[in-house]
Amino acid sequence: MEGGRFEEFWRRLADSRLNAHEEMPVEAILERVLGTWRTCAVCNLLWERAFYLASRWQYLLDEDPSEQAHFVASQTWCNRHAWFFKEVASPRTLGRLHRRLHARVIERMNGLLKGDLSRLAADDPAQIFQDLVGERACRLCGDEAAFQKVVLSELARGLASGALRSAFAASAGCCLPHLAALLCTLPDGDTARFLLETSVDQLSRSANELDIYEAETESRKRRYGAAADAPTRALVHWTGQRGMGQVWYERESLFRASWSGGSPAASGTLADDPVGVEVQ
Ligand SMILES: [Zn+2]
Ligand SMILES: [Zn+2]
Repeated sequence: MEGGRFEEFWRRLADSRLNAHEEMPVEAILERVLGTWRTCAVCNLLWERAFYLASRWQYLLDEDPSEQAHFVASQTWCNRHAWFFKEVASPRTLGRLHRRLHARVIERMNGLLKGDLSRLAADDPAQIFQDLVGERACRLCGDEAAFQKVVLSELARGLASGALRSAFAASAGCCLPHLAALLCTLPDGDTARFLLETSVDQLSRSANELDIYEAETESRKRRYGAAADAPTRALVHWTGQRGMGQVWYERESLFRASWSGGSPAASGTLADDPVGVEVQ
């Protein structure tokens, strides 16, 4: 298996979710998940990856003092991943972790109290937050950004070669944020045309399901068949699965901010770091 940094994750995903006990190349795993999951495969893969990491860290942070010390010194869950972690971690782990985090912040606040506080009014809130908690980063956000690049690159490669085209066409496709990211990643116009034409079909199928849902609801003959969750899946199609795709939204905000300022050149960070170039 050529899974790079994420090799163990791909192996466990195939084993636990696809009941594949033999070695599977990443492309074969993608083909299977496209045929299995009923909403955006990219969102689902990001969710599986975050769940896998949070489960492992829950164990390490509960048992290993050196991991706890490392976390307290350098990591901060962002709001989204803090709540994700809460779904996985035991209350005891959360309690232990926050006891140490609180102690560290109290120490830093006491340090601030000894200095001149009048400067705070002129500071940026981000700077003040850093003064309070130290220089830290959300480990899950960093991992998600790296893993999303890998997933998009692998999908782009499979679509360009043709190997994943039929599985993708039969699948629910990507949510619109991930569709945009995938289109940025494709190597040629022919593949982009295939992806857009396929997306039109997928959205049309979703619209048909919404029609069926509406008709069944109106006639009070809801059959709880394939269309029963059509509104929820349509929502995922628009915005992505709950809690996923945040990296993309940050990019969108950056893009809008740079253009509303009248200076497209300010979007250099977007052009310098296109989604999906790096393959790990
Ligand atoms: Zn998605
Ligand atoms: Zn995060």
